[in-house]
Amino acid sequence: MEDTCILIVDDDAGIRDTMHEFIGMSGYEAMAAGSAEEALEILKTKQADVVISDISLPGMDGLELTDRIKKNFDADVIVITGYSADYSYEEAISKGASDFLFKPVRFAELLLRLKRVLKERHLTQERVKMLEQLQTLATTDGLTKLFNSRHFYNQLTLEVDRSIRYNPPLSLLLLDIDHFKEFNDSFGHLEGDKVLVRLAQIIESCLRKLDTAYRYGGEEFTVILPETTGDEAETVAYRIKNAVEEEKFHPRADGDKTVTVSIGVTQYRPTEDISVFVKRADTAMYQSKEEGRNRVTALFSE
Ligand code: GH3
Ligand code: MG
Ligand code: MG
Repeated sequence: MEDTCILIVDDDAGIRDTMHEFIGMSGYEAMAAGSAEEALEILKTKQADVVISDISLPGMDGLELTDRIKKNFDADVIVITGYSADYSYEEAISKGASDFLFKPVRFAELLLRLKRVLKERHLTQERVKMLEQLQTLATTDGLTKLFNSRHFYNQLTLEVDRSIRYNPPLSLLLLDIDHFKEFNDSFGHLEGDKVLVRLAQIIESCLRKLDTAYRYGGEEFTVILPETTGDEAETVAYRIKNAVEEEKFHPRADGDKTVTVSIGVTQYRPTEDISVFVKRADTAMYQSKEEGRNRVTALFSE
């Protein structure tokens, strides 16, 4: 509760100071502002959980303040209004206020309402956190922590749509570990899993900010490279191929082991179907396999 911060906004210094003191005594960290403008300045540098504001303020009023807070900050707002005022609390609620109080404010009631708003705020935060965790689970591969293939198709659909609409180049890599069955057969599945985890890290370390990597299948990975031509993607592919080749694994105490990958590269050809695009990357990857593995093949036409 000590780290729960309440900002009080009232132009009447007497009311402001009394509320400030009361909120502080109730165990919250309290801040006070004499105007909406001052409140917004404070919020730029300090996070408040709840703003308690008078609706009627000189300059920007409490309604406009509520509106700005809800649009720009993560704080709940409780508004205070007079019975005969020009403002209605319905307006404040429609701007996003969480609750309202009538003047003169009774402190016991203020505290009750504040506690209720804080409780709801807490529940909402928990719910948002849980949804984020679910979202992460649904899009992440458990072993490598890369995105999974479901997310791959979702993202690729978005990027393809963007490429059709705005015409930026879009490229795709498909990687498959060479002779990985042999590796598993020789050293066991657990050692194989370690390779998958490490390869995911290596792939990520070779990417730029917009690029995203996915575990496409068992020992296959994909990379979506937005705003990237096939030639540029090919450079990235070589960077990955070389980095993988240089990595030493220690599946057994005696001696190092290296693995290699075969990579297919291709660039999107506007309006072609996603499946055609992915298939071309796959064909390019298989060409790398056929030509001896540990190589990069770029295929720009069918
Ligand atoms: P190629 O060079 O032709 O790709 O040969 P390969 O042995 O890699 O290809 P193949 O498709 O015959 O075998 C893929 C192997 O990948 C089989 C399986 O043991 C391994 N693999 C797939 N998923 C996993 C996984 O999650 N963990 C581990 N350790 N191995 C996996
Ligand atoms: Mg494979
Ligand atoms: Mg393989």
